[in-house]
Amino acid sequence: MNQHDLVVIGAGPGGYVAAIRAAQLGLNVACVEKEPSLGGTCLRVGCIPSKALLESSEKYHEAREELKRHGVKLAGVELDLQAMLKRKNQVVTALTKGVEGLFKKNKVSRYQGNARIEGPGKVSVEGEEKAEIEAKHILIATGSHSAPLKGVELDGDRIGTSTEALDYPEVPGHLVVIGAGYIGLELGSVWKRLGAKVTVLEYLERILPGMDDELAREALKLFAKQGLEIQLGARVTAARVEGNQCVVEREGGEPLRCDRVLLAVGRLPYTEGLGLESVGIELDEKGRIPVDERFATSAEGVFAVGDVIRGPMLAHKAGEEGVACVEHLVTGFGHVNYDAIPGVVYTRPEIASVGKTEEQLKEEGIEFRKGTSPFLANGRARSLGQTAGFVKVLADAETDRILGVHILGPRAGDLIAEAAVAIEFGASSEDLARSCHAHPTLAEALKEAALAVGQRAIHS
Ligand code: NAD
Repeated sequence: MNQHDLVVIGAGPGGYVAAIRAAQLGLNVACVEKEPSLGGTCLRVGCIPSKALLESSEKYHEAREELKRHGVKLAGVELDLQAMLKRKNQVVTALTKGVEGLFKKNKVSRYQGNARIEGPGKVSVEGEEKAEIEAKHILIATGSHSAPLKGVELDGDRIGTSTEALDYPEVPGHLVVIGAGYIGLELGSVWKRLGAKVTVLEYLERILPGMDDELAREALKLFAKQGLEIQLGARVTAARVEGNQCVVEREGGEPLRCDRVLLAVGRLPYTEGLGLESVGIELDEKGRIPVDERFATSAEGVFAVGDVIRGPMLAHKAGEEGVACVEHLVTGFGHVNYDAIPGVVYTRPEIASVGKTEEQLKEEGIEFRKGTSPFLANGRARSLGQTAGFVKVLADAETDRILGVHILGPRAGDLIAEAAVAIEFGASSEDLARSCHAHPTLAEALKEAALAVGQRAIHS
């Protein structure tokens, strides 16, 4: 029997971060992961490989289409897809090895295999090695898996999920993407830039549900200009392989024939085979593990964080929860501010949000003032040649406290950090507007939008 203070199930951004923090706080920690490499979906087959491909495909696209505008002439630009995929794999390996190194440094004991809760304080590991673990606390951080769609026959090759779309052996002639969410738009962009015809079928009358509507509408126009064919109100009812091709059926439209299909209609909490029944945990109506504000489940000593619980399925949200959970366990304090969790779509331009959207504020009956600033009025954006998009700051009408910031534009994913910090510190739009921003930087667009809340923007 292996004894630990805490056993973490899952080594994704929720689990591995929690394991390291708990070890820093002096606990004897074990982490069980079924995959041979650490890092979870995010590092292995999610955020990291997709960002590597987004970066590489953007460089290819720039070399072919944009550098000439900068006076850089290139002859014979060619795609070496195998090299691109290899580089992506190297980025992933370096990072997953990095987590291994961090586990060693922090003396987190790693077990490889499927973890199953056998009762209070008891976890068994089934895999190449078998183990029985006893621990006072169990933290579930098993993440999520791609949601299936009725009628869509995944064959793990031509009709697949994001995992397959990170490794297509050739650029598909025609790729049909089901779902215009984070994954559909990011990976759709990658293969479009590399030369595929990409059709995105979205069930709703908008893209990116949950994001600020004005931002999403503007982004839709920009994606259409890039040649992504996005069909709204398109409900997919079936997809299957026929010979060398795929056929996708949708309501009220002709079936589409294509080379590959990417199913990206959301993700579901992953709890299969975890043995939750052994400690009496029941899932909610969406298959999530119910937890309280300390991330405690209904079972004494069992906690859960990340995609298996409520809230957005985002790596950084899971990490924050992992830290808060173990800090609460050890110190009695631990907190996540759900109003300050940014969301980023790494398309071009990037789309980033933190806090409330205009729609949410209206729904909640909160009076707000709004300031916007276009990147067209930003000197740095002009120099980069990336002027599409804008920044929007939403502030409480009475107190001026910043309630939400939404950015569509170059490096929006990096720019949003300033807004998250501002919300975390309870800043007003005037605080942001009076903070000196270096010139010429993209961040000046945030300052301008904050100035615009008080009707005193200088540059627009
Ligand atoms: P998503 O929830 O972002 O988008 C799914 C889309 O599919 C929605 O727009 C939905 O309306 C649409 N849809 C549902 N059923 C459909 C049907 N029958 N036909 C056509 N469209 C349909 O989900 P996702 O893009 O699969 O991403 C999964 C999760 O992974 C998300 O929760 C996201 O937070 C996370 N993720 C985050 C990032 C990032 O942070 N950059 C990147 C990738 C994934």
